[in-house]
Amino acid sequence: MARRTSEHRPARPTWRCGTCGIAWPCSPAKLRLLAEYRLDRAALLVHLATLQAEAASNLAALNPTAPPAKLTDRFTGWASAR
Ligand SMILES: [Zn+2]
Repeated sequence: MARRTSEHRPARPTWRCGTCGIAWPCSPAKLRLLAEYRLDRAALLVHLATLQAEAASNLAALNPTAPPAKLTDRFTGWASAR
């Protein structure tokens, strides 16, 4: 259980997956989140929106001249679709 939850976490401030290195959330992270929040999709969206705000702040600080685009699709779009 502990090992499962330690995998595929976002590395800050780059917001790439700490396990597979792609832009977080990667597919394993999405699957884990869907499983964790399977009984409460609204709570998942709140959680993702919180992470998105943190990521937007981190990424803007990293690269002020190129604000990150499409964070909404990346963080919450996949979870709100059924
Ligand atoms: Zn990953």
